[in-house]
Amino acid sequence: MAAAATRLISRLTLVTGGGSGIGRAVCQRFASEGASVVVADISEESANETLGSLQGDLRGQGHMAGVVDVSSKESITKLVTSIQTRYFQPPSVCVNAAGITRDDFLLNMTEEEFDKVIQVNLKGSFLVTQAVAQALVACGAPKGSIVTVGSIVGKVGNVGQANYAASKAGVEGLTRTAAKELSRFGIRCNCVLPGFISTPMTDKVPEKVITKMKSLVPMGRMGEPAEVADVCAFLASDDSRYITGASVEVTGGLFIG
Ligand code: NAP
Repeated sequence: MAAAATRLISRLTLVTGGGSGIGRAVCQRFASEGASVVVADISEESANETLGSLQGDLRGQGHMAGVVDVSSKESITKLVTSIQTRYFQPPSVCVNAAGITRDDFLLNMTEEEFDKVIQVNLKGSFLVTQAVAQALVACGAPKGSIVTVGSIVGKVGNVGQANYAASKAGVEGLTRTAAKELSRFGIRCNCVLPGFISTPMTDKVPEKVITKMKSLVPMGRMGEPAEVADVCAFLASDDSRYITGASVEVTGGLFIG
Protein backbone atom coordinates (compact mmCIF):
# COMPACT_ATOMS: atom_id res chain seq x y z
CA MET A 1 0.00 0.00 0.00
CA ALA A 2 1.15 3.56 -0.72
CA ALA A 3 2.29 5.85 2.10
CA ALA A 4 -0.47 7.00 4.46
CA ALA A 5 -2.27 10.09 3.23
CA THR A 6 -5.13 12.08 4.69
CA ARG A 7 -6.97 12.97 1.49
CA LEU A 8 -10.23 11.44 2.67
CA ILE A 9 -10.61 12.97 6.12
CA SER A 10 -14.27 13.77 6.81
CA ARG A 11 -15.44 11.94 3.68
CA LEU A 12 -18.21 9.62 4.76
CA THR A 13 -17.94 6.70 2.34
CA LEU A 14 -20.38 3.93 1.51
CA VAL A 15 -18.75 0.82 0.08
CA THR A 16 -21.01 -1.94 -1.24
CA GLY A 17 -19.50 -5.40 -1.45
CA GLY A 18 -17.29 -4.21 1.41
CA GLY A 19 -17.15 -7.64 2.99
CA SER A 20 -14.74 -9.19 0.52
CA GLY A 21 -12.06 -8.78 -2.10
CA ILE A 22 -11.87 -5.40 -3.81
CA GLY A 23 -14.61 -3.84 -1.64
CA ARG A 24 -12.78 -4.84 1.53
CA ALA A 25 -9.51 -3.39 0.22
CA VAL A 26 -11.36 -0.16 -0.63
CA CYS A 27 -12.70 0.06 2.94
CA GLN A 28 -9.20 -0.46 4.35
CA ARG A 29 -7.54 2.02 2.02
CA PHE A 30 -10.20 4.69 2.62
CA ALA A 31 -10.03 4.24 6.40
CA SER A 32 -6.25 4.59 6.25
CA GLU A 33 -6.73 7.92 4.44
CA GLY A 34 -9.11 9.24 7.10
CA ALA A 35 -12.57 8.45 5.72
CA SER A 36 -15.40 7.20 7.89
CA VAL A 37 -16.48 4.00 6.17
CA VAL A 38 -19.84 2.28 5.94
CA VAL A 39 -19.05 -1.33 5.08
CA ALA A 40 -22.15 -2.67 3.32
CA ASP A 41 -22.52 -6.24 2.17
CA ILE A 42 -25.15 -8.91 1.71
CA SER A 43 -23.26 -10.92 4.33
CA GLU A 44 -23.38 -9.38 7.81
CA GLU A 45 -20.57 -11.59 9.00
CA SER A 46 -18.12 -10.56 6.30
CA ALA A 47 -19.09 -6.87 6.65
CA ASN A 48 -18.33 -7.09 10.37
CA GLU A 49 -15.06 -8.83 9.65
CA THR A 50 -14.01 -5.93 7.40
CA LEU A 51 -15.20 -3.43 10.01
CA GLY A 52 -12.94 -5.08 12.59
CA SER A 53 -9.94 -4.62 10.28
CA LEU A 54 -10.32 -0.86 9.77
CA GLN A 55 -7.96 1.75 11.08
CA GLY A 56 -9.87 4.43 12.97
CA ASP A 57 -7.52 6.79 14.73
CA LEU A 58 -7.69 9.76 12.36
CA ARG A 59 -9.73 12.90 13.05
CA GLY A 60 -13.45 12.31 13.52
CA GLN A 61 -13.47 8.80 12.15
CA GLY A 62 -16.31 6.39 12.95
CA HIS A 63 -17.07 3.31 10.87
CA MET A 64 -20.13 1.10 10.72
CA ALA A 65 -21.22 -2.13 9.06
CA GLY A 66 -24.58 -2.58 7.36
CA VAL A 67 -26.39 -5.34 5.56
CA VAL A 68 -27.68 -4.55 2.09
CA ASP A 69 -28.90 -6.37 -0.96
CA VAL A 70 -28.04 -3.91 -3.72
CA SER A 71 -30.62 -5.44 -6.06
CA SER A 72 -33.41 -4.32 -3.71
CA LYS A 73 -34.48 -0.68 -3.62
CA GLU A 74 -36.13 -1.23 -0.24
CA SER A 75 -32.93 -2.62 1.25
CA ILE A 76 -30.87 0.33 -0.08
CA THR A 77 -33.39 2.87 1.25
CA LYS A 78 -33.13 1.26 4.69
CA LEU A 79 -29.35 1.40 4.60
CA VAL A 80 -29.18 5.05 3.49
CA THR A 81 -31.70 5.97 6.20
CA SER A 82 -29.62 4.19 8.85
CA ILE A 83 -26.50 6.02 7.64
CA GLN A 84 -28.25 9.39 7.88
CA THR A 85 -29.57 8.54 11.34
CA ARG A 86 -26.11 7.66 12.56
CA TYR A 87 -24.03 10.42 10.89
CA PHE A 88 -26.68 13.15 10.29
CA GLN A 89 -25.55 13.32 6.66
CA PRO A 90 -25.54 11.11 3.55
CA PRO A 91 -22.31 9.56 2.27
CA SER A 92 -20.42 12.01 0.05
CA VAL A 93 -18.45 9.15 -1.48
CA CYS A 94 -19.81 5.86 -2.71
CA VAL A 95 -17.96 2.89 -4.15
CA ASN A 96 -20.14 0.31 -5.91
CA ALA A 97 -18.09 -2.86 -5.52
CA ALA A 98 -20.83 -5.47 -4.94
CA GLY A 99 -20.86 -7.92 -7.80
CA ILE A 100 -21.41 -11.53 -8.74
CA THR A 101 -20.74 -13.96 -11.55
CA ARG A 102 -22.91 -16.81 -12.88
CA ASP A 103 -20.78 -18.09 -15.74
CA ASP A 104 -22.07 -20.27 -18.54
CA PHE A 105 -21.72 -20.45 -22.31
CA LEU A 106 -24.24 -18.30 -24.15
CA LEU A 107 -25.79 -21.38 -25.73
CA ASN A 108 -26.56 -22.80 -22.28
CA MET A 109 -27.11 -19.70 -20.13
CA THR A 110 -30.46 -19.69 -18.37
CA GLU A 111 -32.68 -16.67 -18.13
CA GLU A 112 -32.22 -16.81 -14.33
CA GLU A 113 -28.41 -16.69 -14.64
CA PHE A 114 -28.68 -13.71 -16.96
CA ASP A 115 -31.24 -11.84 -14.84
CA LYS A 116 -29.46 -12.41 -11.52
CA VAL A 117 -26.17 -10.93 -12.72
CA ILE A 118 -27.89 -7.93 -14.31
CA GLN A 119 -29.92 -7.36 -11.15
CA VAL A 120 -26.92 -7.26 -8.82
CA ASN A 121 -24.21 -5.75 -11.01
CA LEU A 122 -26.16 -3.30 -13.17
CA LYS A 123 -29.45 -2.58 -11.45
CA GLY A 124 -27.67 -2.63 -8.07
CA SER A 125 -25.19 0.03 -9.23
CA PHE A 126 -28.08 2.11 -10.58
CA LEU A 127 -30.12 1.88 -7.38
CA VAL A 128 -27.20 2.72 -5.08
CA THR A 129 -26.00 5.57 -7.31
CA GLN A 130 -29.52 6.97 -7.47
CA ALA A 131 -30.12 6.71 -3.71
CA VAL A 132 -26.81 8.36 -2.82
CA ALA A 133 -27.24 11.10 -5.43
CA GLN A 134 -30.80 11.81 -4.32
CA ALA A 135 -29.70 12.10 -0.69
CA LEU A 136 -26.78 14.41 -1.58
CA VAL A 137 -28.94 16.67 -3.74
CA ALA A 138 -31.69 16.77 -1.09
CA CYS A 139 -29.31 17.99 1.60
CA GLY A 140 -27.54 20.47 -0.69
CA ALA A 141 -24.13 18.83 -0.25
CA PRO A 142 -21.48 20.75 -2.20
CA LYS A 143 -19.78 17.73 -3.73
CA GLY A 144 -19.76 13.99 -4.08
CA SER A 145 -17.89 11.21 -5.83
CA ILE A 146 -19.38 7.93 -6.98
CA VAL A 147 -17.03 5.20 -8.16
CA THR A 148 -18.40 2.07 -9.79
CA VAL A 149 -16.36 -1.07 -10.25
CA GLY A 150 -16.85 -2.23 -13.83
CA SER A 151 -14.57 -4.69 -15.56
CA ILE A 152 -12.30 -4.82 -18.60
CA VAL A 153 -14.59 -7.66 -19.68
CA GLY A 154 -17.34 -5.08 -20.30
CA LYS A 155 -15.17 -3.68 -23.10
CA VAL A 156 -13.74 -6.81 -24.64
CA GLY A 157 -16.22 -9.60 -23.75
CA ASN A 158 -15.25 -12.93 -22.23
CA VAL A 159 -16.15 -16.50 -23.06
CA GLY A 160 -18.74 -17.81 -20.59
CA GLN A 161 -19.66 -14.34 -19.32
CA ALA A 162 -22.36 -12.91 -21.62
CA ASN A 163 -24.36 -11.83 -18.56
CA TYR A 164 -21.39 -10.42 -16.66
CA ALA A 165 -19.87 -8.61 -19.67
CA ALA A 166 -23.26 -7.06 -20.49
CA SER A 167 -23.68 -5.90 -16.87
CA LYS A 168 -20.20 -4.36 -16.83
CA ALA A 169 -20.67 -2.61 -20.20
CA GLY A 170 -23.93 -1.35 -18.72
CA VAL A 171 -22.33 0.25 -15.67
CA GLU A 172 -20.05 2.30 -17.93
CA GLY A 173 -23.05 3.71 -19.81
CA LEU A 174 -24.82 4.31 -16.52
CA THR A 175 -21.78 6.10 -15.12
CA ARG A 176 -21.26 8.33 -18.15
CA THR A 177 -24.94 9.35 -18.05
CA ALA A 178 -24.86 9.93 -14.30
CA ALA A 179 -21.73 12.06 -14.80
CA LYS A 180 -23.56 14.25 -17.34
CA GLU A 181 -26.67 14.64 -15.18
CA LEU A 182 -25.02 15.07 -11.78
CA SER A 183 -22.09 17.39 -12.60
CA ARG A 184 -24.26 20.43 -11.94
CA PHE A 185 -24.71 19.19 -8.37
CA GLY A 186 -20.95 18.77 -7.88
CA ILE A 187 -21.20 14.99 -8.02
CA ARG A 188 -18.55 13.20 -10.08
CA CYS A 189 -19.11 9.65 -11.35
CA ASN A 190 -16.37 7.37 -12.63
CA CYS A 191 -15.62 3.70 -13.22
CA VAL A 192 -12.60 1.57 -12.48
CA LEU A 193 -12.17 -1.39 -14.79
CA PRO A 194 -10.14 -4.11 -13.11
CA GLY A 195 -8.57 -6.87 -15.15
CA PHE A 196 -7.72 -10.08 -13.36
CA ILE A 197 -7.54 -9.50 -9.60
CA SER A 198 -6.86 -12.07 -6.88
CA THR A 199 -10.08 -12.25 -4.82
CA PRO A 200 -12.61 -14.90 -3.71
CA MET A 201 -14.38 -14.21 -7.04
CA THR A 202 -11.38 -15.35 -9.07
CA ASP A 203 -10.58 -18.18 -6.61
CA LYS A 204 -13.38 -20.02 -8.41
CA VAL A 205 -11.56 -19.84 -11.76
CA PRO A 206 -9.79 -23.10 -12.75
CA GLU A 207 -5.99 -23.07 -12.39
CA LYS A 208 -5.45 -23.67 -16.11
CA VAL A 209 -7.52 -20.58 -17.00
CA ILE A 210 -5.57 -18.52 -14.45
CA THR A 211 -2.26 -19.58 -16.02
CA LYS A 212 -3.58 -18.68 -19.48
CA MET A 213 -4.85 -15.27 -18.30
CA LYS A 214 -1.57 -14.46 -16.57
CA SER A 215 0.29 -15.17 -19.81
CA LEU A 216 -1.86 -12.50 -21.51
CA VAL A 217 -1.07 -9.81 -18.91
CA PRO A 218 1.90 -7.69 -20.04
CA MET A 219 2.85 -7.19 -16.39
CA GLY A 220 2.83 -10.99 -16.02
CA ARG A 221 0.75 -11.33 -12.86
CA MET A 222 -2.71 -10.93 -11.41
CA GLY A 223 -3.55 -7.68 -9.65
CA GLU A 224 -4.08 -7.25 -5.93
CA PRO A 225 -7.32 -5.78 -4.52
CA ALA A 226 -5.27 -2.97 -2.95
CA GLU A 227 -4.11 -1.91 -6.42
CA VAL A 228 -7.73 -1.32 -7.42
CA ALA A 229 -8.49 0.36 -4.07
CA ASP A 230 -5.66 2.87 -4.63
CA VAL A 231 -7.31 4.04 -7.86
CA CYS A 232 -10.71 4.27 -6.13
CA ALA A 233 -9.13 6.48 -3.45
CA PHE A 234 -7.75 8.76 -6.16
CA LEU A 235 -11.17 8.98 -7.85
CA ALA A 236 -12.85 9.70 -4.50
CA SER A 237 -10.40 12.43 -3.58
CA ASP A 238 -9.91 15.98 -4.82
CA ASP A 239 -6.82 14.79 -6.70
CA SER A 240 -9.29 13.79 -9.44
CA ARG A 241 -11.47 16.91 -9.13
CA TYR A 242 -11.62 17.51 -12.91
CA ILE A 243 -12.33 13.88 -13.81
CA THR A 244 -15.89 12.67 -14.38
CA GLY A 245 -17.46 10.08 -16.67
CA ALA A 246 -14.11 8.33 -17.03
CA SER A 247 -13.24 4.65 -16.94
CA VAL A 248 -9.81 3.85 -15.56
CA GLU A 249 -8.36 0.46 -16.47
CA VAL A 250 -6.48 -1.35 -13.69
CA THR A 251 -5.33 -4.38 -15.63
CA GLY A 252 -1.55 -4.61 -15.72
CA GLY A 253 -1.97 -3.94 -19.45
CA LEU A 254 -4.39 -6.82 -20.18
CA PHE A 255 -6.22 -6.25 -23.49
CA ILE A 256 -4.65 -2.89 -24.22
CA GLY A 257 -4.70 -3.95 -27.85
P1 NAP B 1 -15.92 -10.78 -4.12
O1 NAP B 1 -14.71 -11.05 -3.33
O2 NAP B 1 -16.87 -11.90 -4.41
O3 NAP B 1 -16.70 -9.55 -3.45
C1 NAP B 1 -17.98 -9.17 -3.83
C2 NAP B 1 -18.79 -8.87 -2.59
O4 NAP B 1 -20.10 -8.43 -2.98
C3 NAP B 1 -18.98 -10.13 -1.73
O5 NAP B 1 -18.80 -9.83 -0.37
C4 NAP B 1 -20.45 -10.47 -2.02
O6 NAP B 1 -21.06 -11.20 -0.99
C5 NAP B 1 -21.05 -9.10 -2.17
N1 NAP B 1 -22.36 -9.17 -2.79
C6 NAP B 1 -22.82 -10.09 -3.69
N2 NAP B 1 -24.09 -9.83 -4.01
C7 NAP B 1 -24.46 -8.74 -3.29
C8 NAP B 1 -25.68 -8.01 -3.18
N3 NAP B 1 -26.78 -8.36 -3.87
N4 NAP B 1 -25.72 -6.94 -2.35
C9 NAP B 1 -24.63 -6.60 -1.64
N5 NAP B 1 -23.45 -7.26 -1.68
C10 NAP B 1 -23.37 -8.31 -2.51
O7 NAP B 1 -15.52 -10.21 -5.57
P2 NAP B 1 -14.44 -9.13 -6.01
O8 NAP B 1 -13.54 -9.79 -6.97
O9 NAP B 1 -13.89 -8.37 -4.87
O10 NAP B 1 -15.39 -8.18 -6.87
C11 NAP B 1 -15.71 -6.84 -6.49
C12 NAP B 1 -16.16 -6.10 -7.75
O11 NAP B 1 -15.08 -6.09 -8.68
C13 NAP B 1 -17.31 -6.79 -8.47
O12 NAP B 1 -18.18 -5.81 -9.00
C14 NAP B 1 -16.63 -7.53 -9.59
O13 NAP B 1 -17.50 -7.74 -10.67
C15 NAP B 1 -15.52 -6.56 -9.92
N6 NAP B 1 -14.39 -7.13 -10.64
C16 NAP B 1 -13.63 -8.11 -10.11
C17 NAP B 1 -12.56 -8.62 -10.85
C18 NAP B 1 -11.65 -9.68 -10.32
O14 NAP B 1 -10.80 -10.13 -11.08
N7 NAP B 1 -11.76 -10.09 -9.07
C19 NAP B 1 -12.30 -8.12 -12.13
C20 NAP B 1 -13.12 -7.13 -12.64
C21 NAP B 1 -14.15 -6.63 -11.89
P3 NAP B 1 -21.09 -12.83 -1.12
O15 NAP B 1 -19.66 -13.25 -1.16
O16 NAP B 1 -21.83 -13.24 0.11
O17 NAP B 1 -21.82 -13.12 -2.42
